[in-house]
Amino acid sequence: MPLSLADLTRVKGPASEAVLKEELEETGLERGFVLGVMKDRLKVMREAIERGLKSDAPSVAGMVGWNAKTLWEAADPLEAPLLKRVQAYAMAVNEENARMGRIVAAPTAGSAGTVPGALFGVADHLGLPDEKLVMPLVLAAGVAKIISRQVYIAGATGGCQAEIGASAAMAAAAVTELLGGSAEASVHAAALALQNTLGLVCDPVGGYVEVPCVMRNGFFSVHAVSAAQQALAGIRSFIPPDEVVLALAKIGRLLPPELKETGKGGLACTPTARRVVAELRGEEAECEDS
Ligand code: SF4
Repeated sequence: MPLSLADLTRVKGPASEAVLKEELEETGLERGFVLGVMKDRLKVMREAIERGLKSDAPSVAGMVGWNAKTLWEAADPLEAPLLKRVQAYAMAVNEENARMGRIVAAPTAGSAGTVPGALFGVADHLGLPDEKLVMPLVLAAGVAKIISRQVYIAGATGGCQAEIGASAAMAAAAVTELLGGSAEASVHAAALALQNTLGLVCDPVGGYVEVPCVMRNGFFSVHAVSAAQQALAGIRSFIPPDEVVLALAKIGRLLPPELKETGKGGLACTPTARRVVAELRGEEAECEDS
């Protein structure tokens, strides 16, 4: 039987070890090879963060491209360096994606900033080396794999809850393990993060993965860190983690097509979005109410 989230909660030691064991059994790959791939992925994430924090080049559709740099370089009246770092890192990666730069889909390109934002943001804040992130990233991948058995991870099929929700769950589990949380705490962090994204719709302006996607990654990287903080404090999801995933799948089926990456509803059909689409493409947005 493939691993469930409930199985992971019962693991003695880090949950990532159980995920890696299953991966090695399923693929026949060597442990060193898989961990090497994970190190490579972390390097790509790190490079995307570094490029994204420095760049203010506009994205393909020109709606984003400068936000991560703006936040990173701004004064911080809140005096909350972790909050700022996590958000800026996540947005940096997604602005790289919006410029067609190199990123790691985690689990998708549109949600590629949440995991590196939370993971690198927390690690850098605490002065932890990148090597410490390898096994938490394995766990993040395992969480995505388990979610993807119940729901196809794409805004077009499950709404943004399936993309950003999955990425927040991945990041929450990874950060919890990074900070020494148990397997049970890591899985519950994922469940807490996921259940609080349920219902999130996919309505990007013009169909470009720019607005609201870039800032959304910033917000939900913080959300993931909050879930980890709750789980590390001993809070557990009232709804069992696998049932949260089932709820996600059911809500994904209930969401109307207009709110699943079709550009026919939500933010994509606001007056400003319609004007932008008309300017970019010379045609009207296909809104259901038009
Ligand atoms: S709004 Fe849609 S395109 Fe943007 S991140 Fe969410 S699922 Fe992806």
